[in-house]
Amino acid sequence: MTHSDKTFSEQVLKWFDQHGRKHLPWQQNITPYRVWISEIMLQQTQVTTVIPYFERFMASFPAVADLASASEDDVLHHWSGLGYYSRARNLHKAARMILENYAGEFPKSVEQLQQLPGIGRSTAGAIASISMGIRAPILDGNVKRVLARYRAVEGWPGQSAVARQLWAIAEEYTPQKRGAGYTQAMMDLGAMVCTRSKPSCLICPLKDSCIAHQMGEETRYPGSKPKKTKPERAVKMLMIINQNGEVLLEKRPPTGVWGGLWGFPEIQPDGNLSEKALQLTGIDIIEFEEWDSFRHTFSHYHLDITPVKTFANSSKLHSCQVQEGDHWHWFQPDTPSQLGLAAPVTRLLKKIKQSL
Ligand code: SF4
Repeated sequence: MTHSDKTFSEQVLKWFDQHGRKHLPWQQNITPYRVWISEIMLQQTQVTTVIPYFERFMASFPAVADLASASEDDVLHHWSGLGYYSRARNLHKAARMILENYAGEFPKSVEQLQQLPGIGRSTAGAIASISMGIRAPILDGNVKRVLARYRAVEGWPGQSAVARQLWAIAEEYTPQKRGAGYTQAMMDLGAMVCTRSKPSCLICPLKDSCIAHQMGEETRYPGSKPKKTKPERAVKMLMIINQNGEVLLEKRPPTGVWGGLWGFPEIQPDGNLSEKALQLTGIDIIEFEEWDSFRHTFSHYHLDITPVKTFANSSKLHSCQVQEGDHWHWFQPDTPSQLGLAAPVTRLLKKIKQSL
């Protein structure tokens, strides 16, 4: 252990002795079972909400065998209002596994604890350190925040490289002795002092060596989840009108966006429009007018659409490759549509009708 590690855990433990929470129900009569239930309940929920749930749960299921023999409905009933019900189902499953595979005794290693449903590395570390005296680091949300700020770890902890770095730091600072106190101290420090939006650095035992605090950038850490930017694509929709005032529609392939619906022939926005129209439809277009572009957003990308109103050269139309049928259709905008049309196509057809 280096001097600075010792200082870190010593400072945290000293603070905990004076200010930490020591009277929570799961801190009394400590057993792996009670620590486990409390850790799972606390995962997405505030301490004050958890307390009455924990007490009711313990009254009904005082030991792992009671939980294992309960019905799932009964367990869920005790969870009702806490949310994230998979937590309760996993607890129930894990209790049965502890009965079947470990004769009702909690396994005594972080690795084995992690094999149980709903127990991740941090929860396993908390159970092992608090109730079994095993030296094991934890890295729940509170601890991630403290460590990311203390060492100014860049990046979002959801990324595995960042998580690895934080786990290494957690490991480095976890002391050989007083592991239970240290685990609780780190949780309390995160929950009570190094809070998400307004950390109370002035009363923090780590303030003299905390890098984020020295930089005055506490809330920059930990980094937030990068926003996914949707890719953008652009097309021109050719609204080709014939001498009868009909508009050419093309049936889209059965899969993909607007699969199987009718739409306008689409071309890439760059290059020569007449040539592309000719290539795609065989139609010679004689006039065209670009309308304002608009954006249509799908779940996975943005489509920037530029509608282009064009007229077909009727003298050459008889020889083009467009044949009325399953793939191409000359649509009369005056008659009500029986066709499956994508929403922007319906809107554009209305505008064409008004413009003719
Ligand atoms: S000094 Fe501030 S930012 Fe750093 S660990 Fe303490 S409370 Fe968090």
